[in-house]
Amino acid sequence: MQQIPLGSTGITTSRVIFGTLPLGPLQAGLTPEEGGRLIRHALERGVSLVDTATLYETYPHVREGLEGFGGEVHIATKTHAPDGATARAHVELALRELGRERVDIVLLHGARIADPFTEREAVLEVLLAMKEEGKIGHVGLSSHYISAIRKAVAHPEIEVVHPLINRIGMGILDGSAEEMAEAIAACSRAGKGVYAMKALAGGNLIAEARASLRYVLGLPGVDAVAIGMLSETEIEANLALAGEGMADEATWQELEKKRRRLRIMERFCKGCGMCVDACVNNALTVVDGSARVDEATCVLCGYCGAACPEFIIRVV
Ligand code: SF4
Ligand code: SF4
Repeated sequence: MQQIPLGSTGITTSRVIFGTLPLGPLQAGLTPEEGGRLIRHALERGVSLVDTATLYETYPHVREGLEGFGGEVHIATKTHAPDGATARAHVELALRELGRERVDIVLLHGARIADPFTEREAVLEVLLAMKEEGKIGHVGLSSHYISAIRKAVAHPEIEVVHPLINRIGMGILDGSAEEMAEAIAACSRAGKGVYAMKALAGGNLIAEARASLRYVLGLPGVDAVAIGMLSETEIEANLALAGEGMADEATWQELEKKRRRLRIMERFCKGCGMCVDACVNNALTVVDGSARVDEATCVLCGYCGAACPEFIIRVV
């Protein structure tokens, strides 16, 4: 499939990036072998960038997918570390578990941080130091905040941005899709690579998947979009859509019927509220001692599941 430059990084990427969040324990809970098979299928079809994160726990899946693959593949990961020492530990973990000496892209995983340049200054300093050490290829930022993406424009050390955008603006924390699109275009003009996330709002836009993906892929400045894919059929359909604009109608109708939702096993809930604190979209509340989700605001990111000490939240 078509490969394009990711901003000024020197990396070339397919327009569809394999997003690994749904493969791991926060969502579908596939084994590394199962997830690796899907990643490998996508690589063989021309996907050349794989997106992961410390939080996703999918390094074994990525490693499995890349094992013995001869083509050029880049890996982007993220650290949600609150401090420099933890950020270093996260990157070292990625290097170890991925079996690499360098991670191509490491993003500050700043979903809920309006100003990462002040709130995560120490993390950025460590990531830049590790770039100097040769352990990181490029440093970037992921965010659900327009303000953070706007601020990135003036920071040349941020080479890649990974913003949340979809055509209804679901999950954007401080404004509209149009405002995020403007911030994205400004980043692109400043030479940054841009790959978008949540084009389908975590599955909420699945019924209009084609229109939603075309919207994000068509935005000025968006180089690529990370999409979580759980079957070879999804991979084929997304690649067709991003490539020649041809998608098999019957396949798409089947895919667009799929529904995903957040499942909380309420009878095991202790009502501790840790999931509420983890939800950047304020989609959770504790009512009568157990957690409840507001499906109208939930973007199915699964981060609440990572925060739950009882392991009773899943995106299904
Ligand atoms: S409720 Fe959970 S899955 Fe939904 S947006 Fe909040 S953290 Fe994400
Ligand atoms: S974190 Fe888990 S146990 Fe605590 S309130 Fe949320 S769902 Fe219940």
